Amino acid sequence: MTSPENIDCAVIGAGVVGLAVARALAMAGREVVVLEAAGAIGTGTSSRNSEVIHAGIYYPKDSLKAELCVSGKHRLYGYCQTHGVAHRQCGKLIVATSETQLDTLADIKERADNNGVPDLRHLTETQVNKLEPDLTTKGALLSPSTGIIDTHGLMLAYQGDAEDHGTMIAFNAPVTGGYLEERGIRLFVGGADELGLQCRLVVNCAGLFAQNVAASIQGFPQGHIPESHYAKGNYFVLNRKTPFSHLIYPVPEEAGLGVHLTLDLAGQARFGPDVEWINKLEYSVDPARADAFYDAIRKYWPALPNASLSPGYSGIRPKLYDQGHPASDFVIDGPETHGVEGLINLFGIESPGITASMAIAGHVSELIS
Ligand SMILES: Cc1cc2nc3c(=O)[nH]c(=O)nc-3n(C[C@H](O)[C@H](O)[C@H](O)COP(=O)(O)OP(=O)(O)OC[C@H]3O[C@@H](n4cnc5c(N)ncnc54)[C@H](O)[C@@H]3O)c2cc1C
Repeated sequence: MTSPENIDCAVIGAGVVGLAVARALAMAGREVVVLEAAGAIGTGTSSRNSEVIHAGIYYPKDSLKAELCVSGKHRLYGYCQTHGVAHRQCGKLIVATSETQLDTLADIKERADNNGVPDLRHLTETQVNKLEPDLTTKGALLSPSTGIIDTHGLMLAYQGDAEDHGTMIAFNAPVTGGYLEERGIRLFVGGADELGLQCRLVVNCAGLFAQNVAASIQGFPQGHIPESHYAKGNYFVLNRKTPFSHLIYPVPEEAGLGVHLTLDLAGQARFGPDVEWINKLEYSVDPARADAFYDAIRKYWPALPNASLSPGYSGIRPKLYDQGHPASDFVIDGPETHGVEGLINLFGIESPGITASMAIAGHVSELIS
């Protein structure tokens, strides 16, 4: 690219959400340039997560998370089938380990029904044992529409569609700031070839850095930038064969879904993510956290052997609230909310961002039109 340049749409960030948005805009006939700070797609949160296709169970009714997860899930399964993205609809069990938690399961089932997820089934202890003999529970909910996905394969498919429709992805192209102009937004892009881009539309999909990007655009009303907080999720991998064929979740806890077992497409089991509130972005996994994992997992799998967990990896949730405060929804703001033409900001795109990615892109397209 030569400087200065006029473009139609700039999408900031080539994670799963930025790529889904770029794909949708390009397929609607827009000229799209994706600006990505890193040297490859999906190096942020999109490669540090559980890779679960969520059913849409827990989110408050009528929230964006509920709506976009449920519609995104259906679109995602269809897309995976037509585009050869590896995935498996393996189902998940939400397990009650005490009598009191059976009441919580009933609440979860009701919430899922309200969100348009009517297929959860109550299982008795005996029924659970038939499915997963190694589990110790008082009962469970089976979610048949939960699955697992190769997120990198999904991002490659989005990238392919976007590029087939004319999208250009600029790597090593960090957005360093910008300002509002009469017709659109001027963005400054750093890297080896610094340049200024005059954009008719900017979609800020910078994940953990979305607030920084919004704040760096002079003239953007700062009151429309939510607080930024980080909740790290650590994973431990099971260093032996897993006895389980379903994903296993305890009842949810504050800020996360509890230390659950997920499987990757190769059958490797991992546990996590836990919740560790942090002030700066740092991804190492402290081996000492394993003790809490053994305690949490043995509530539903008492036979978990000693020395069977090894530190895995971590991901960081872009939270909009601090520890102890109520959970928040996705924030996807366009001109109707913040008053700035030609700018859409996406904040707090934590889980279920992968599941919802196509629906998020559809929502962004609606805000534009
Ligand atoms: C622990 C954990 C587990 C999760 N599990 C699941 C799950 O099982 N299922 C599910 O559906 N969701 C899950 N999620 C959520 C999901 O991973 C995210 O919602 C999704 O990956 C967010 O994608 P993104 O594109 O918004 O962000 P990212 O993947 O972080 O992409 C943002 C991109 O923006 C780029 N960028 C940042 N700043 C700039 C800049 N100034 N200029 C240019 N580029 C910039 C970054 O380099 C990055 O590539 C999980 C999240 C976490 C943290």
